[in-house]
Amino acid sequence: MSDKKYAVEINDLAVEFRTDDGIVKALNGLDLKIEEGKTLGLVGETGAGKTTTGLAILRLVPSPPGVIVGGSIKLNGEDIFSKTEHEMQALRGKAVSMIFQDPMTSLNPVMTVEEQIAEVIELHEDVNHKGAIEKAKEMLEMVGIPGERGTEYPHQFSGGMKQRVVIAIALACSPSLLIADEPTTALDVTIQAQVLEMMKELKVKYNTSMLMITHDLGIVAEICDTVSVIYGGRVVEHGSLDDVFNNTRHPYTEGLFRSLPNLDNRSEKLKPIKGLMPDPTNLPEGCTFYPRCDYAMEICKTVKPKKVYRNDEHYVECHLYDENNVKVGGLIGK
Ligand code: SF4
Repeated sequence: MSDKKYAVEINDLAVEFRTDDGIVKALNGLDLKIEEGKTLGLVGETGAGKTTTGLAILRLVPSPPGVIVGGSIKLNGEDIFSKTEHEMQALRGKAVSMIFQDPMTSLNPVMTVEEQIAEVIELHEDVNHKGAIEKAKEMLEMVGIPGERGTEYPHQFSGGMKQRVVIAIALACSPSLLIADEPTTALDVTIQAQVLEMMKELKVKYNTSMLMITHDLGIVAEICDTVSVIYGGRVVEHGSLDDVFNNTRHPYTEGLFRSLPNLDNRSEKLKPIKGLMPDPTNLPEGCTFYPRCDYAMEICKTVKPKKVYRNDEHYVECHLYDENNVKVGGLIGK
């Protein structure tokens, strides 16, 4: 038996949004695990279910219209669906925090940044206001902002600095799990690199486990230990960074890599994945990638593929591989 400990374990999670236009099947049996102290990259296109996964871990899927229809989520071994809302409030910010893409939506424009960090500390820790402000200044220093700037307001900071403040708030109570939803997408490329570098250092310092939600495989290569590729609300390929980058199995993962610029051959054209994500109110019956897949076979149209393991960690859900992980299909062109 494995003695690995997991910061989060999601099994067979299904989430729907019941709207006037139909039932949006956002997550369809999603499995995901993050070992303590490790970073998992959850990669996929917009609309694949990445943010819903992050919100589900915090039990913040907006309801209505969102409904958890099945599955389980354990945080540090504890089932979050059996907790009361009051218990969840105590966990948010303390056991698990989330950083969103746009720092402005996370910061209060009429509060100084140190007050905003102190607010979280006071909520979860046994300190008075003065002690919380002192710790807030320390947190600012830790993310590379002079403590004395704590008395300033968000509009007095640049985009990169604001995201650093958001990270300081998220880490203020040393959560065991940090969910980062495209944390650097809204930033300039050079600032992105600085913020990522800082997150890497802080993660090591605090031994924080991290779920890095991104569409950017460059960020995954930079910061992640394991990778889950999500499509149509399911993880279609999962493995270590080396497994997924150097032994790519799923045609969708292959497509994500093909659509990246090749720095060794800059004249080579990018090859975007043809077609669009499936309509989540009307998902294909078999493999959800079937309409876009160059390797699709007859079976893919009607039968959902099951997990096939290449090693203890690396699996793929694709009919191209039989239960012994032998490739049984090939490029047939559709
Ligand atoms: Fe393509 Fe079939 Fe594999 Fe789906 S199951 S990714 S359609 S080969």
